[in-house]
Formats: sequence, C-alpha cells, structure tokens
Amino acid sequence: MDSKEVDRNSVGALPALRVRNLSVTFTGERDIPAVRDVDLTVGHGEFVALLGESGSGKSVTARAIMGLADEHTRVTADELSLAGTDLLALPEEQRRRLRGESMSLVLQDALSSLNPVMTIGDQIGELFRVHRGASREQARAHAIDLLGMVGIPAPARRVDDYPHQFSGGMRQRILIAMAIALEPSILIADEPTTALDVTVQAQILDLLGSLRDQFGMGVLLITHDLGVVMEVADSLAVMYAGRIVESGDADSVLGHPAHPYTEALLRSVPQAAMRGSDLLTIPGSPPSPARIPSGCSFHPRCHLAVETCSSTRPLLAEVAPGRLAACLRSEELIGEPVH
Ligand code: ADP
Ligand code: MG
Repeated sequence: MDSKEVDRNSVGALPALRVRNLSVTFTGERDIPAVRDVDLTVGHGEFVALLGESGSGKSVTARAIMGLADEHTRVTADELSLAGTDLLALPEEQRRRLRGESMSLVLQDALSSLNPVMTIGDQIGELFRVHRGASREQARAHAIDLLGMVGIPAPARRVDDYPHQFSGGMRQRILIAMAIALEPSILIADEPTTALDVTVQAQILDLLGSLRDQFGMGVLLITHDLGVVMEVADSLAVMYAGRIVESGDADSVLGHPAHPYTEALLRSVPQAAMRGSDLLTIPGSPPSPARIPSGCSFHPRCHLAVETCSSTRPLLAEVAPGRLAACLRSEELIGEPVH
C-alpha cells in the first residue's frame, strides 16, 4: 500500500479541500481587497464549480489556495486544508511538494503551460521520475498509460511528439494528464475549456467527470460560463466582486437561484433561458476590487435592489438547508422558479 492510500483511508470524512474565510489583498500604495471571506468545501469525488464573471476574483482565489501568490499579495484564512493536512501550518518547501502531488492546477492556456522543446512523454514522465523515483522506462510506460486515459489516440506513438503537434483540445488533455498523474486529492481547473470550441469543451468536461469517478479526486472547476457547469457540477459557488454571493447544490441553485446575480447569469445562458423568453444580458460590468460599491456590491446592476441595498451589505446566510445566499430578497426570489 502506498502512502497515498494510507492517507485516504485514515482521513475518513475529511473533505479533499476545505477553505474557510480566505481573503486576498493586493498590497501597494493602498490595499486592494481582491477576495473576501471565501468558504469552499470540495469533498472527495465531488465536482464543485466556482462561477462568476471575468474579474470577480476566481483566479486570485485559485492561486491563493495553491500557495502561488506573489510577494505583493497578502493571503489570510482561518483554514486551508487538503484532506486533513493544514496547509497554513506547512513550511513553504513542503507546500511546494504538495503542489502537483496532492493538489494540482490546470490553466486555460495549454500551449504556454507546456514546454515546447520537450516531448510530451518526457514532460509527463518527469513527474514520475522526480516524485516517484521511476526509471526512464517506467516513466515512459506511465506516460503512455496516462495519455490513453485522457483520450489521446495511439498514445504509444504520440508519446514522442512535441506540444505543437497536437490540437488545442488534445493539449488540454495532456495538461489534465499531467495534473492527475500523481493522483492528487484535488484538481483545480481554472477556465480549462475557455479557449476551445463547444464540442471539444464538452469532451474535456466529460473527461474531468470520468477521471473524478475513477480516482475519487475532488474537482474545483473555475469558469465564467454557466453553460459549462450545468451538466457537470454537483455544487456551485457563485462569486461576485471577490465574495461568494450564493452557494449550494447545483440543481437547487440553478433551479431556484436565491441571488439576483445567479438568476441574471442563468438568464444569460442560451441553454438555460426560459422557453419563450428573451435571453438577457446583465447591464453594466463587475466592479474592480479597487472600487467596490457600498452596501451590496451587486446593487448598481440589480433589478431587485431597494434603498437599503446601497448602504448595507447582506451577509451570506442560510436560505434553505445546505444553501447560502447574500441577498435581502432571497426569500422572495427563491419562491420564483426561473423555468
Ligand atoms: P477572474 O474571476 O476573472 O479569474 P481574477 O481573480 O483574475 O478574476 O482577478 C480579480 C481582480 O483582481 C481583477 O480586477 C484583477 O484585475 C485583479 N488582480 C488580479 N491579479 C492582480 C495583481 N497581481 N495585482 C493587482 N490586481 C490584480
Ligand atoms: Mg480567471
């Protein structure tokens, strides 16, 4: 039994990832609050989507969880744990080791994430050689297995090819192969399909879902595209201006959103728009973290806003069992299904 199996068995019900009260501040002439009080829990084998328009703080959150923030960034949290391991208490050296091993991050831009002058077999194999002490032959055999697993045709032949010899979708599969190579507890995928066409997007999401089933890892899928999460997510956290404004299981949230922002996102997705009604776009754009509106940060764009909304920020509170929303008018909203 390897150490990973021991870990997995002994952690019992502890989630793959738990984040409590994560805040990220960019420091400089003045502090800019990019992310505030974020809670996220991803169970083993669970697919959680972090959703929000561009600029809402999703990638900043992902980097903070991974421990990749730069020196101009202050990260604080009450808890940041990975299958029971307290990441906040770990020395940087050990935390670095966990990256790639127990937690991995897949980014959108597969071409720039791969080394153009190394064959993909060598790039994948290197993980097994460095982290597992595998021989060249063993590493190559693992690389071929993994390429097959992520759906690269003729993996034994393609293993010696270079990144530029693959399509965008295939490169994204290769990055996913690298991310799951060491069987992490949690895979964070930050807009993994944004650069791809719709058919390939769906294939990549299917792949993430089936790998999640196969390895039992938690997946945190970060996206601005609600259409992408509808089919795959078990639960959902919606982010606006650096805060989670709604969370809960995906079916309930999408069926009966409790925050006008979620509702607006839903109405802007072609697959989800109500039959016979118009596709709506959300007026205005999300605020920059340097200029977050007073009160509820969504109020300037909200069709349900009342006077209090511009002065008092509603707290994230339970609106139904297992569901949270930060809106004064959640109760009215939740009673009004969008379909
Ligand atoms: P997204 O939800 O699109 O992933 P990001 O998390 O990348 O959004 O960014 C959130 C906000 O923080 C944006 O307004 C972005 O401009 C700002 N931001 C991101 N990184 C930095 C940084 N290193 N310094 C200052 N501002 C940043
Ligand atoms: Mg981003």
